Amino acid sequence: KSFKDLGVNEQLVEACENLGWKNPSKIQQEAIPHALQGKDIIGLAQTGSGKTGAFAIPILQSLLETPQSFFACVLSPTRELAIQIAEQFEALGSGIALRCAVLVGGVDQVQQSIALSKRPHIVVATPGRLLDHLTNTKGFSLRTLKFLVLDEADRLLNDDFEKSLDNILEAIPKDRRTYLFSATMTKKVKKLQRACLKNPVKIEA
Ligand code: AMP
Repeated sequence: KSFKDLGVNEQLVEACENLGWKNPSKIQQEAIPHALQGKDIIGLAQTGSGKTGAFAIPILQSLLETPQSFFACVLSPTRELAIQIAEQFEALGSGIALRCAVLVGGVDQVQQSIALSKRPHIVVATPGRLLDHLTNTKGFSLRTLKFLVLDEADRLLNDDFEKSLDNILEAIPKDRRTYLFSATMTKKVKKLQRACLKNPVKIEA
């Protein structure tokens, strides 16, 4: 099946073509139609499977229908992965003036606060730094969020991040779509799934 067959709109099909993505990967084939129907998703998938596209395409399609700042937040366990995710969003959104902010440790918080003041559509963050900004950056909140992505959830659940995650979940709307991706389905991931997702569709790459 092509991206068009999965229900992806013309603008985003073109963005995929521009990236050289001719056909959807397996995880994209399986996730995108459910995501476009408004389902929560659990994806068992490794890096390299095309999982970023599997969540970014449905989020961008929904954003095109109802443009709004602070639309989606993607949580990543590492700064490198966060940067790669933001790059894929920016590449897919290059035709639609997409604004994306990356909030990770080891980078000046003031620069990140300035990026937040421009009201990005997408925030890609590591949990600790996101929580720092939710606490310290004036005027920044995720109260209008429509999508939460927990990427590499097994790695998001180390001791440092778990407490931050609890606090982040309290600061975002319960009425939202949630996508959880993980390489492994551990007990902790299952617990997180039960706390965060509603009637999810489970998919394997
Ligand atoms: P990910 O697993 O999301 O980290 O993606 C791994 C790599 O695959 C990235 O460099 C993507 O640009 C690329 N990619 C994602 N989806 C496709 C696709 N449908 N066709 C070709 N390449 C893809």
